[in-house]
Amino acid sequence: MNCCCGNLARVRTSWMKENPRRRFLSCVNRDGGCRFFEWEDSPLCARSRVIIPWLLRRLNALERENTRLVRRNEIYKARKMKYDYGVMLEGEDNL
Ligand SMILES: [Zn+2]
Repeated sequence: MNCCCGNLARVRTSWMKENPRRRFLSCVNRDGGCRFFEWEDSPLCARSRVIIPWLLRRLNALERENTRLVRRNEIYKARKMKYDYGVMLEGEDNL
């Protein structure tokens, strides 16, 4: 689909609270001042507007937790290596 200035409209995804995960078309020249905008699908139902942001918050929390656990696991692995081999790796004297 072409926008009013003749460019090919690009599909983007809204993550705003009122329209989470809703796709819309806008111009590739948006930063150049083209105001073309059109929703690509129908509005979300009330239940989706509540559940999708909740799932997003949950996903973000789990990703943060995963990052923390991966980091902690690396520290434990380094400690175990130090214990098993009696080696002091550079920069790890505080483990
Ligand atoms: Zn345009």
